[in-house]
Amino acid sequence: MVGGFRVPALSVDEAGPERGTAVWEDDYILLALLSHGLVEMKRRLEGLGEPRHLLSRAERRDTGLPGAWQEAVTRLWWRFFWAGLEPPRNDYAVLELCRLPLGQWPLRMALSSADVEVSLLDGEEPSEFAEEAVRGAWGDPEAHIAEQRVHQALLLVAEANAREGRDAWRIYVRMRRLVIERPVISDVEVRALQQELPAGPTAGEPYVMDFVRTAYERRPAENGVTLTVCARCGVPLPQARGSRNKSCGTPNCETSPKILHLPTLGFYWVLHRGARRFVHDPGVFELRVCEKVRALGLEPELWLGTDQPDALDVSFRVPRGKRSELWGTDEKDWASPVLLARSFRWPIEPECDRRFLVVPEHRAQVPGYLTDLRTELAGRTDPARPFKVVTEKQLLTEIRRALARQGGGSCAR
Ligand SMILES: [Zn+2]
Repeated sequence: MVGGFRVPALSVDEAGPERGTAVWEDDYILLALLSHGLVEMKRRLEGLGEPRHLLSRAERRDTGLPGAWQEAVTRLWWRFFWAGLEPPRNDYAVLELCRLPLGQWPLRMALSSADVEVSLLDGEEPSEFAEEAVRGAWGDPEAHIAEQRVHQALLLVAEANAREGRDAWRIYVRMRRLVIERPVISDVEVRALQQELPAGPTAGEPYVMDFVRTAYERRPAENGVTLTVCARCGVPLPQARGSRNKSCGTPNCETSPKILHLPTLGFYWVLHRGARRFVHDPGVFELRVCEKVRALGLEPELWLGTDQPDALDVSFRVPRGKRSELWGTDEKDWASPVLLARSFRWPIEPECDRRFLVVPEHRAQVPGYLTDLRTELAGRTDPARPFKVVTEKQLLTEIRRALARQGGGSCAR
């Protein structure tokens, strides 16, 4: 197996089947390449404004198929060939394979048992697994850019409007929460934000408008707008045609439709895809853990170390004897334990007394998920910053135990 994901052999330009068997031994790399091809095709189609069939449109244009896809198809051909199987005949056959759960491929791959039920495509969309594979392997430039841009815009608003030390962090948290809790906002609300956070360049709009434009897309709506949104996470639901139980797309969200009436003057704003997928979706889980910790009588803080986009998600002080310990948690809701382990790094700041990588219960219930996550993490983690892998419930149990030892739920500082 190739150590880690960021290996030169992954380069689409230089890797080829003649480069030796080492690259073949890790099926996750093959799946990452296929996923990269699918995500790339999807993005090209979105760029063309034609959200239909992946291959036909991509092929019809002169742009050709993405390099990663072509590379993946070649590797797949050889992988089948060497396994003594008949290789997929063409791109369409490979695309059909991408719709099958990985465990049902004719090819026996070395996968975590948590990954055998997933496929690379959900309908016409790259699956969660596919997005994670791309992110893990290439540090997904689109995800990185979306996160960075929102983060930079937030920092600018926070720093420009802060009057004293902790103000900046408070404003940062408030605005990042907005992205998570309010996927749709009206221009009336945006106007209120401009009044509340007026700092900006000498001529021009307040910085908060840069942030709004970075995270949201503006849509026209005179005299108000009525939308169907997910009652749980607030994301607008796709216009239902026929099928009734449309999912909102937020991982593990129990979607239920709700009508939202927003008074507007001329526009409303909806989170754009990048901000939604890479700031909103993970944020839903972070906020949930934060609220559960608060319910235990502690005072959790969000995103300490905000000068990094990958700040410590939720941290809190737990009393211990006459002093208290800082516990840090990093919330990760990934479909694939293997891909999560390979991309995971503990945030550098701040130093914590105890560290927890927290996964949601719905992931932990998948057979093999936790075992494979721990196995893949072994040897990849910084011994100076050891952390424990726990589920949401296990984290709360750890906190309750610590509080019980202390003989109460008081919060020391
Ligand atoms: Zn939802």
